[in-house]
Amino acid sequence: MASRARGLFGGTFDPPHLGHMAAARAAIDALGLDELVVTVAGEPQQKAAKPVASAALRDEMTRAAFDGIAKVVVRDLELRRGGPTYTIDTVEALLAEAPEDALVLVVGADAAAAMGSWHRADDLARLVEVAIVPRPGPAAPAVPEGFSVKEVAMAPVDLSSTAVRAALREGADPASMVPPGVIRVLLTHRMYAP
Ligand code: ATP
Ligand code: MG
Repeated sequence: MASRARGLFGGTFDPPHLGHMAAARAAIDALGLDELVVTVAGEPQQKAAKPVASAALRDEMTRAAFDGIAKVVVRDLELRRGGPTYTIDTVEALLAEAPEDALVLVVGADAAAAMGSWHRADDLARLVEVAIVPRPGPAAPAVPEGFSVKEVAMAPVDLSSTAVRAALREGADPASMVPPGVIRVLLTHRMYAP
C-alpha cells in the first residue's frame, strides 16, 4: 500500500469540547491527513490533578464526539496499555503497525510549549513532525527545541475542559461548548453536574 499521512491527537478529553473538534478538523485539512488517530490518555503525565471522569467515560465521550468525523479513528491504545500515558509509547506503537506512513503529532500551543519536558522528548523529536494548533493565550506559539514544527492555521477557540467542567457545574447549557454526541453522554451519566 502507498504510504499515508497519519496524525496523532491525544488528550485527556475530560470532556472533549468544540476546541478539540476544531483542532482535529483544521489539522486534517491543513496537513492533508489520510487518518487522524485520536487517543485518550489513561493517566496523563502532564497534569497535576487526576482526571475527573473515569477513563471509560472519557473514552465513551471521545468516541461520541468524533463519531462521523471523516478520517478520525478513536483508538484505546493508551487505555489498554495501562499505567502512565507517554506519547512516545503511542508513537512507537503506531509507527510499528505502519512503518511506511509519515506520522504527525497534533498538539495545541500550550501542549507544544511543554514538549521539551515530555518523556523521551529527543526520541519523539526524531520520530514525528509536530503540528501546532493555535490556542488563545499569551504570546506566539513556542517552538519546542529540536522538533520539526508546522503551524496549523485556525481561528482560536476559547474553550478548555477545565472551563467547560466549571461552566457545567454552574448549570450552563453544554450546546455551545461540546458536540451533540457528548451532550447525550453527559446527560446519561449526570457528569460534571451542579
Ligand atoms: P484541560 O483544561 O483539562 O487541560 P484541555 O481543554 O486543555 O483540558 P486536553 O485534553 O488537555 O484539553 O488537550 C488535548 C489536546 O488538545 C492538547 O494538545 C491541547 O493543547 C489541545 N486543545 C485543547 N483545547 C484546545 C483548543 N481550544 N484549541 C486548540 N487546541 C486545544
Ligand atoms: Mg490541557
